[in-house]
Amino acid sequence: MLVGGVWTEGSTGERIESVNPSDRSHLAWIARGVEADIDRAVAAAREAFRAQGAPGWKQVEPAERGRLLYEAARRIRQEAEDLARLESLDNGKPLSQARTDAQVAARYFEYYAGVADKLMGETIPIDRRFLDYTLREPLGVTAHIIPWNYPLQIAARSIAPALAAGNAVVVKPAEEASLSTLELGRILTEAGAPPGVVNIVPGYGEDAGAHLAAHPDVNLVAFTGSVATGTLVMKAAAENVTPVLLELGGKSPNIVFADADLEKAIPTIMRSIYQNAGQTCSAGSRLLAERSIHDRVVEEISRRSRRLRLGPGIEDPDLGPIISESQWKRVLDYVEIARQEGVEVATGGRAPEDERLRGGFFVEPTVLTGVRPEMRVAREEIFGPVLAIIPFDDADEAAELANDTPYGLVAGIWTRDIQVAHRLASRIEAGQVFINTYGAGGGVEMPFGGYKKSGFGREKGLETLRHYTQVKNVCVGLE
Ligand code: NAD
Repeated sequence: MLVGGVWTEGSTGERIESVNPSDRSHLAWIARGVEADIDRAVAAAREAFRAQGAPGWKQVEPAERGRLLYEAARRIRQEAEDLARLESLDNGKPLSQARTDAQVAARYFEYYAGVADKLMGETIPIDRRFLDYTLREPLGVTAHIIPWNYPLQIAARSIAPALAAGNAVVVKPAEEASLSTLELGRILTEAGAPPGVVNIVPGYGEDAGAHLAAHPDVNLVAFTGSVATGTLVMKAAAENVTPVLLELGGKSPNIVFADADLEKAIPTIMRSIYQNAGQTCSAGSRLLAERSIHDRVVEEISRRSRRLRLGPGIEDPDLGPIISESQWKRVLDYVEIARQEGVEVATGGRAPEDERLRGGFFVEPTVLTGVRPEMRVAREEIFGPVLAIIPFDDADEAAELANDTPYGLVAGIWTRDIQVAHRLASRIEAGQVFINTYGAGGGVEMPFGGYKKSGFGREKGLETLRHYTQVKNVCVGLE
């Protein structure tokens, strides 16, 4: 772990094994951080932030912070291939997707590097007896709890704006996939981050994570993960009145009208659900299809799904494995639940029989039809390559179905009718709506976050900087 600029074992000397989900082979031993390690990391971050001794982070010129972030971006690009291979082995994702993750991670640092010296306050007209102005200041120590599905991207997405704004960070990667976040810690150190400004403490959620969320000397908890854990994090942070930024799950719909360009829509929708084997918070896991094209869409997606190649991430297949045995069983259980609910499995729905894949946690790309909106597979996040297809009759019904889950992260609308598209966009309860596209690359520049149980607060873009800074009003009496 990286604490106060020093690489150390954890205080207990215990370790967590990192396993390759493609074949369950041993990858690495990682230090297991516990409460005492979190305490040391938070103290190191606080000291770095307070500028006791040189060089203190709060005192570092904004432009200098920006240069450091640019340097980090440059180094990430330089090491992109190694980072991608590591991520692919640790998480199981197809190598080309891991390569994209490395590029997007670099882009986060580059984007927020440019922001570091452009965070400013305002002067506010009151009357001539006063001069009133605001200062936009960092919070202090920000905590970042990262999931295993896009470790490098998500670590970069929350560390980069936090550092740009002048905070010192303590990062707790997911126990299933910590390696690329540790590498990011090394890269930031080599790029010139002063000791204590970036601390990375791997460990389990229930002790290291919970302790970090409950820590009284943390000024913000930026959490990305499941609703269940997000709820615990919010409760723990509430004890200290610490603000939280929660990026949680989703059950995002793609809504396809009969007039849509299906040749464009179908591959994009398939990518939105099968990317990272469906383990994406913004996965397009529901497909709402206008009734007149429903059967055609089911048939076409099923046909194309059967052609997809599964394999170890490092061989760059179309789909890699699920991250762990427990998640794998959970995904297969959902298909069983669907069958019991009377759903038809149009394709997939099993672990592949291929001898070569027996050792890993693979699930065939799966298409479910005959899904009704009240069914569990239409409402709950499965987090696997499972697409639920539901027919609709008109735009009103499409809007109702789209909003009929506890989540509200992303939605896609596919139609050539711009009036229908924009009317629907305003009715959808989701933090991001795409029209005739889905995802738009890394989306670094676009605010991203949830409505409803998908969380609150926004990451990405300039919008997120509100969360990593606070405003101080200063009023001067002139008479
Ligand atoms: P998770 O909630 O199980 O774990 C996320 C992180 O929280 C891990 O680092 C874990 O160790 C830690 N954690 C676990 N228990 C904790 C506790 N009691 N206190 C503090 N921290 C604790 O989620 P996961 O399985 O790693 O990730 C999958 C989930 O994340 C899905 O629901 C997915 O939709 C969501 N997700 C959301 C986004 C987004 O931006 N909205 C992005 C990626 C993933």
